[in-house]
Amino acid sequence: MQKFRDLGIPEEIIRVIQEDGFEKPSEIQSKTIPLVVEGKDVIGGSATGSGKTLAFAAGIIKNCEHGKGVQALILTPTRELAEQVSVSIKHFSKHKPLKIISVYGGVSINPQIESLRHADVVVGTPGRILDHLERDTLILDSMKILVLDEADRMLDMGFIDDVVKIIRACPKERQTLLFSATIYDEVVMIASKYMHNPVEISAESHVDPKKLHQVFYDTPDNMKFSLLVHLLKKEKSDLVMVFCNTRKNTGFVVKYLCSSGIPAVAVHGGFSQDKRDRTMEDFHSKKIKVLVCTDVAARGLDIPGISHVYNYDLPKNSKEYVHRIGRTARAGKEGMAINILASRDYENFSKIQEDESLNIVKEELPSNVDRIFIKPVTHGSYRGEFRGGFRGERREGSGGYGRGRSEGEHRSYGRDRRDSGERGGKWTFEGQGRPSHGRPSRGGSNYHRSKEASNSRSSGRGDREEHRGYKKKRY
Ligand code: AMP
Repeated sequence: MQKFRDLGIPEEIIRVIQEDGFEKPSEIQSKTIPLVVEGKDVIGGSATGSGKTLAFAAGIIKNCEHGKGVQALILTPTRELAEQVSVSIKHFSKHKPLKIISVYGGVSINPQIESLRHADVVVGTPGRILDHLERDTLILDSMKILVLDEADRMLDMGFIDDVVKIIRACPKERQTLLFSATIYDEVVMIASKYMHNPVEISAESHVDPKKLHQVFYDTPDNMKFSLLVHLLKKEKSDLVMVFCNTRKNTGFVVKYLCSSGIPAVAVHGGFSQDKRDRTMEDFHSKKIKVLVCTDVAARGLDIPGISHVYNYDLPKNSKEYVHRIGRTARAGKEGMAINILASRDYENFSKIQEDESLNIVKEELPSNVDRIFIKPVTHGSYRGEFRGGFRGERREGSGGYGRGRSEGEHRSYGRDRRDSGERGGKWTFEGQGRPSHGRPSRGGSNYHRSKEASNSRSSGRGDREEHRGYKKKRY
């Protein structure tokens, strides 16, 4: 405990840390807490799972007192993360009376208005926070600490204007703490414009790369789903997350997993907050073992016991990929990330592989995969998986063509509803999407054949990024 005390963590938190059985501070905690409690502005380069919540909670709990107005505001990219952070701060502050509330869209605003009257610490998503500021139901006159949690995600999700408006509504005399897994242009802009001499700190996440095994299967298009079922049945697993790029695909995967004897539940931004909360609770408590989700719903969540992460759809870049696989191999546990590639994933996979720090090993296709036949859902001739996919599954993650949008990408669809990923894009059979770059649209193990083409394309993209002055760092 002395190590935690030496950082300047107040005694009321030390008691909680003791009760929780934490042995030593994480890297981000050791490096940032002394600065945070001293009131310095800090940029923490760290991902989810690094222990950053305690890092900023230490300063908040030390410097805020009950009944003096809203003294700390924490902005998070998603409702789930807002909820998680507020639960975490409540937990760490249980020996100090503080009123911590979370506010986000998708739920009624009135109870929030009532709670805000007595709040000391507010955690929320930018859209709803801005609503409250506009209604004068959130007053920031007493605010001392602003935290931008997962700043890169927030900006990626198109929140930049909202975030800037909120920062401008905060008192100038304040401490600003910014946590971000990657530090790139817009994050740097926020830091340089709205922070006072910030100290930049970087740290690894809780995910232990030695304990995280990453593999990929290069499967014929008509075997993608069958292989998923095969692996789910074969792999010895605890909790499992299966990532899809669209809501539609989560529905598709869940439906057919259930009919293949694997109970699974979907979670995505289209469900009501209540339903999402219930699903996540069931997953936490292991009532549900297989969660099929989009990035938005799973972003930033810390769920112990996830042994496997499957990418049924490959995410569109390595940043997204790293966030997904970071759900497993946490806190010293072993974890497995399994990527199931079909031709539609090749381009995304090439982009992911541009990140040389990732070591994704190719696995041979098992020979004994039971092929799963699925009746066509709509009229027309039967095609099923053998003909390249299922009707009803959307061609998602179509690798940089900018058509089918992934969940959460666009800000302009209204506040706190930005995980509306269902606009744009085409409906098609699995694997029939884009017969591009000379790749066959189905069959065979084509990833390596197509990689060369992708590489040449991606180097062009790299040049453009350089030209635009992107500087990316990953921690
Ligand atoms: P966070 O990155 O803040 O979401 O934290 C990830 C998880 O690590 C949470 O479950 C924390 O309770 C836990 N945690 C935070 N600090 C420590 C620590 N020093 N030792 C062990 N676990 C920790």
